Order: sequence, then C-alpha cells, then structure tokens
Amino acid sequence: MQLFDTLRGHKATLDIPTDRPLTLYVCGVTPYDTTHIGHAHTFLIFDILIRYVRALGGQVTYCQNVTDVDDPLFERAKRDNIAWDALAQREVDQFVKDCRNMNFIAPDFFPKVSEEIKGMIPIIAGLINNGKAYVSNGNVFFDVSSEPTYGEMARLGGYEELLATANERGNNPNDPNKHDPLDFVLWQTSNPGEPEWPSPWGPGRPGWHIECTTMSTRYLGEQIDIHGGGRDLIFPHHPSEIVQTEGYTNKRPFTRFWVHGGLTWLDGAKMSKSLGNLVFVRDAVQEQSADSIRWYLASFPYREDFNYIRADAKAAEHEISRLAAALSAPSGNGSELSIVADRAAFMAALDDDLQMHVAIPILKGMIDKILAAEGQDIRVAQADLRFCARIIGFAIAE
Ligand SMILES: [Zn+2]
Repeated sequence: MQLFDTLRGHKATLDIPTDRPLTLYVCGVTPYDTTHIGHAHTFLIFDILIRYVRALGGQVTYCQNVTDVDDPLFERAKRDNIAWDALAQREVDQFVKDCRNMNFIAPDFFPKVSEEIKGMIPIIAGLINNGKAYVSNGNVFFDVSSEPTYGEMARLGGYEELLATANERGNNPNDPNKHDPLDFVLWQTSNPGEPEWPSPWGPGRPGWHIECTTMSTRYLGEQIDIHGGGRDLIFPHHPSEIVQTEGYTNKRPFTRFWVHGGLTWLDGAKMSKSLGNLVFVRDAVQEQSADSIRWYLASFPYREDFNYIRADAKAAEHEISRLAAALSAPSGNGSELSIVADRAAFMAALDDDLQMHVAIPILKGMIDKILAAEGQDIRVAQADLRFCARIIGFAIAE
C-alpha cells in the first residue's frame, strides 16, 4: 500500500511483510483527562490500518505505551490530592474501557513507563558512551549538536524555530545544567513529592522521550515498520525518539514510516487539556453509538485537523442504522446484485494512504444499492458490504 511518511514528506510504498508481522508503535496517553475525541481519532486511524493490513492477509504486532510518569500527571494528582499512581491507574482503567467501547483492537503490548524504568538505564548509559549524551548534576541530557539532522521531520526551518516550538511544548531553555537550550532530558532529579527511581547518575526519573525508545526497542525491535501518533508529536517528541534510538543502536532508520493523525478542534479551538474544551468518549457513547462516532471520525482525511461538530457526529447514527438494515435485509430471488466494483474502489481508497474519508462514501453507496435492490439476490453484495464495514471496524458488522 501507499502510505504518507512524515519524515520523507511524501507517500511511499509500504510492503506488507509475508514472513513476519508488521510492527506498529503508537504513542499512547498520559493517563489523566482520558479519553477525549482527539485520542479516539488518533487511535481509530491505527485501528483501521491494522484491520486493513489483516484484510490483505498480513499480521500486525501492535505496541501502545502509557505515559504514567509525566509532569502534567503529577500536577493533576497534586491538585486533586490523590497519589499519582492511583490517579494513573484509575485513568488507565477508564481508557481501556473507552477503547473497548470504541471497538479498538487491543494492543499486543501495553507497557507503562513506571514499569519500564529499568530498561531505560542501559540505553541512557549507551548514549553517554556513544558521545550523544552528558551527565550534569544528577541529570542526563541528549546533546542535540551530536545529531545535525535533529528535528528535520518538523520542517520548521532552523535552530531558532525548533527551540521556540520545543519551548511551547514544555522545554526549559534556561536549565543551567544544559550545554545548549535545545538539549533534552533523558534523566532528571525528581522534585519533592515526585516518585524517583535509582540510577547510576543518582535517584530521579526519566525524561519524556526516552520511554518510547525503550519500549519500542524492547517490544518490537531496534527497527520498526510504523510509528504513529498525533500531529502534535512531530516535534519535539518523535525527532527526539529518532536521535535517541539511532544514537543507541547505530541502526538507521529507526522507523520506516512515521504516520501522524490530524488534531481535533471544537468550536474553532484545538481540543486540548490545557484549554479544557474536551469531549470525552465516555460521555459521547452515552449519547450515540460507538459505531456512529467511528463513522463520523472516519469521514475526515486522517492527516488533517478537523472540527468536531456534535450535531454532525450524532447525524452519523442514521448511517449506522442504514448499514444495519442493509446487512440484515432479506434477499430476493431475482437477479444477483453485484457491488464488487464498489468493494474494489473501497480497497483502492484505503490502499492509497488510508483514505478513509474516500472509503466511507463508497461504503454509503454500497448500502444505498443494497437497500434499493428490490427482489434481487443480495447475498453476495451483503458479504461484500460486511467485509468492508469490518475493515472500518463497525461492531455491528462483526
Ligand atoms: Zn512516544
């Protein structure tokens, strides 16, 4: 299939391996304020990708991490007067429930940062050893000057633009322990009240990016096929993963395809924890079926930002009832209805960079034809419809 790779900036051919599973790593949630519609949109993209690869006869090994050691989680725990790990566990349980409700394929590996700290130590030590990182007052930083291509995925221009973007997303350029303001944390001393783990550089906790290098290499290998996440991870998170992983393993590329989903907006503002304008999956599924949310989210180009409109999301319920009617309609004995060309067009849309927004109207056309087929034999057409609906992941088609 053709798939857009953010690093190369264009589509390229992804060969579905026949002798091993395709490896997929998707950056997961920080467990608080989960699961909002923006999360659901990101995970839906990879859910459909997995289902499509399986429909082609391939297999996928899927790892999705949980960032349960993170500044905003600690801040929230402090605000709500709850232990950080209790908050994380409660929110992970909610997330798993939401994903089940959304009919997302469960990852094969679902590691938590708090349980993976041990595996980070040799990688950080290796980076120091390879001249890619340095120790400073109990902290360890990645030396970005050691990797001149750092951040090229973001196409931001030069160093100043990278630094400005990193600063917007949590980088502290004024840390006196750093050699360069853009150097990022691999290991840091913990603040009072925060958890800490032992390390050769003193007790502390990991920086954000090292977790994904650690977990992807541990569960999927040193080089993987597809690495995904939301568009907001294009910098600094994913380029940091690249320089860490390649700086440690000396194998390039770390990831063959970088796939990013667009961000979700609500009433003209990005749906985000910081703005507090979140629509939660747990609330949305009270108001409409998960299948209808899926239909709605799948009807947008996956790489582009989209504006979530509640009324439009709810209107998708009508499409799901028509899908159900088409799947269960009694067949006539007349001439056979063929929608095999629609099925081929549906597959071609997904084969060309997973254009689910093109596939959905084709699916709608298949439904129309079956519901209009008075007296015709629709049994084969129904099987074709079911085949396609299952790739989009509708529970009613399973
Ligand atoms: Zn990640």
